[in-house]
Amino acid sequence: MAAIAPWATAALSGRVLATAASPLDANDICYRLPKVPQPEFLPMSRAEMERLGWDTLDILLVSGDAYVDHPSFGSALLGRWLCAAGFRVGIVAQPRWDSPADIMKMGRPRLFVGVTAGALDSMLAHYTAFRKKRHDDAYTPGGAAGARPNRACIVYTSMVRHAFPGIPVVIGGIEASMRRISHFDFWADSIRRSILLDSKADLLVYGMAERAIVEIATRLDSIAHNTNAHPPTALHGIRGTAYVAGNPDMSASPHPGPLQEGEGIKLPSHEDILANPRLLMTATLAMEREAHNGLAWLVQMNQKRALVIAPPAAPLGSNELDELYSLPFTRLAHPSYSKVPPALEMIQFSVTSHRGCAGGCSFCALAIHQGRHISSRSADSILSEVTSLTKHPAWRGSLTNIGGATANMWNAACKGNQAKCQRPSCLWPHICAHFSPDQQSLADLMKSVSKLPGVKHLRTASGVRHDLALTDLSYLQSVVGEFTGGQLTVAPEHNSSRVLSLMRKPPFAEFERFLAAFDRISRQCGKEQYVIPYLISAFPGCTVEDMKELAAWLRQKNWKPQQVQCFIPTPGTVASAMYCAGIDPDGNPIRVAKTDAERLQQHGILCADERSHPRSNHHFLDSRKEKVQHSVAKPKRDLNRR
Ligand code: SF4
Repeated sequence: MAAIAPWATAALSGRVLATAASPLDANDICYRLPKVPQPEFLPMSRAEMERLGWDTLDILLVSGDAYVDHPSFGSALLGRWLCAAGFRVGIVAQPRWDSPADIMKMGRPRLFVGVTAGALDSMLAHYTAFRKKRHDDAYTPGGAAGARPNRACIVYTSMVRHAFPGIPVVIGGIEASMRRISHFDFWADSIRRSILLDSKADLLVYGMAERAIVEIATRLDSIAHNTNAHPPTALHGIRGTAYVAGNPDMSASPHPGPLQEGEGIKLPSHEDILANPRLLMTATLAMEREAHNGLAWLVQMNQKRALVIAPPAAPLGSNELDELYSLPFTRLAHPSYSKVPPALEMIQFSVTSHRGCAGGCSFCALAIHQGRHISSRSADSILSEVTSLTKHPAWRGSLTNIGGATANMWNAACKGNQAKCQRPSCLWPHICAHFSPDQQSLADLMKSVSKLPGVKHLRTASGVRHDLALTDLSYLQSVVGEFTGGQLTVAPEHNSSRVLSLMRKPPFAEFERFLAAFDRISRQCGKEQYVIPYLISAFPGCTVEDMKELAAWLRQKNWKPQQVQCFIPTPGTVASAMYCAGIDPDGNPIRVAKTDAERLQQHGILCADERSHPRSNHHFLDSRKEKVQHSVAKPKRDLNRR
C-alpha cells in the first residue's frame, strides 16, 4: 500500500481537513439546537406525528429491525440521540419492499433518510452456517422470519430513492459498517465491492454513529436554511464516514515515515483484490489497524472512482454515554405491534456499561466496528439506570446483565499510545503491559447494584474474558461466588494452539487454569455450577485432526457440548479474509475447510447428530459480535461434572 499525501485527501474530501485534524469536541456536537421534547415513542405513523404536533420529520430512519424503544436497538438509540440534539425523527421499521408506500407514509423528511439493515447483517440474519434459510428472526415481532429483504441496505436505499428523489441517503449499522471496503461475501461466495457503491447511497457511516449522524444532520440543516439544495460534497470529510469521489491523482509519492494525523493510506484497489485475493488480507488488516489508531484516511479505487474513508469518530466519553443512556427509553416494543420481538425478552433488563472490546479476536466484527478502545459509563449512571428499571411495569427483580461485548472490561484503559499501537489485540498473544483493567471496581459496582432496593437477582451468564479474569482473583471470586447462577458461558473456542493463535485467542492452558479456579471457588462457596464452553468448528486453519483432538479433550472431561458454532465468515473480518484467501495474516498458506462437506465433517466431530441433519440454527444472534450465541441447553450433569 502506498501512503497518500494530505493534500490528496483534502482534494478528495472537498474540504480542508479541519475535521480530521481537529476531532469534534464532544461539547460541540450536541445540545446546540433547541431541544425537541422526547416523545414516549418515536413516531411510526402520520397520526403519531400529528399527536406530537409535527407537520414534517427532519430525519427518517428506515430499519430492518422492528422498532423496540431500547438502547440496544440502533434506531431507537440514534433516534432519541437526534431528538436530544434538536431534530424530529420518525422510524419506518421493516417496510414492505415491493412498494415504497410504507417508506412514504410519514412524508418526505426535511433533511435526510438513514438506512440500516438492523442489528445484524441481513444475510447472516437470514441464513445458517450451511446457507440454509433460517426460520426465525429475533428482531421481528413474534420471531417471524422474512420481514426484511436480503441485502437490506441496498434494497431500502433503492426504495428511498424511488420514494423521495434527490434526498440524501445515509447507510449505517453493522451491515454497512463491515462492508465498507471490498469484502468476502460467504453467501455469494465471492468478493464484493463496498456496499456504498452497490447501494448508491450518498454516505456510509461506520462504527458507532452518534457523532457522525448529528454532524450530518447539522450540516444539512444549515444548508437547508440557506440554499435548500445540498452540493455533492456537503457530507464529505465527516469522521466515521465513507463517501465516493472522482478519480483522484494518486501519484503522490509514498510517505517516508510514520503517518501523521490526517494523512492517508491507499488500499489495494477492488480490481486488484479480485485478481489477487491475498490483497483482501492487506486491505482488511489496514482497515482494522486504522479503526484502532484513528488517524489515517483510507482510499480504495474502484475502477475510476475513489472510495474515501475518513478516520473513525472519537468514541463517546463517559459523560456522553451517561447522557445517551439516560434518555427516556421505554424498553418496550412500539405499541403498534401485537407480538414482542424475542430479542426484547432477552435484553429488556440488561444494562450497557461500556463499549469497545480490547480482544481483537480475528473472527469478531466488534473491534472493526466499535473499536478496541473501551468507553465506560460512570458507576452513578449505571446505578441510576438500574434504579429506574426497578420502577418499570414489567420489572420482576432480575437484571440479566451489566456489561458490553466483554463483561469484564468496564473501566479498562490503554495507558500507552493507542494512536501508534501496532498490536492487533490488547490481550493477545499476551496481555499488553499498557492495558489497565479495573475488575475490582466492576465487582464493587455489581455488589452495589445487587443491593439496590428491588433488585433480587443479578447474574453474569456470559461474556467473561477468562484470561483477563485470572489477573484479578478477587473479581473472579465475586463473579463465581456471587453472580453466577449455576452456569457461566466462557469462550475458549478451541484447544489447538495453532487454531487459537489464528483466532487471536489466549492459549488453552489459560482456559484450564480458569476451570480449576472456577471449580475451586464454586466448591468453597458450596455451589454446584458449570462452565459452558463456546467452541468453533471449521475455522480457517483448523483441520479434522484438530477437531478430533478437541473431541478427545471433551471426552476426557466427560463433556458433551450441546451446540458448537460452525465458523461463518462474516463480512469484513480478518478471519473472513483468511477463509477467502487461504492465508494467515502474515501471508502464510493455511488449509481451509470450504465445502459444505468439509465443514460438516469438522462440525460433526463434536455434533454427531448434526452431521447429516444440521440444525436449523434456532438461536439468538449476538449483534455485537455477529457471532452465533449458542442456546446451550443445561448440561447433563453426569456428562458435565468434572
Ligand atoms: S498499547 Fe497495548 S493497551 Fe494500548 S491499545 Fe495497544 S495493545 Fe492495547
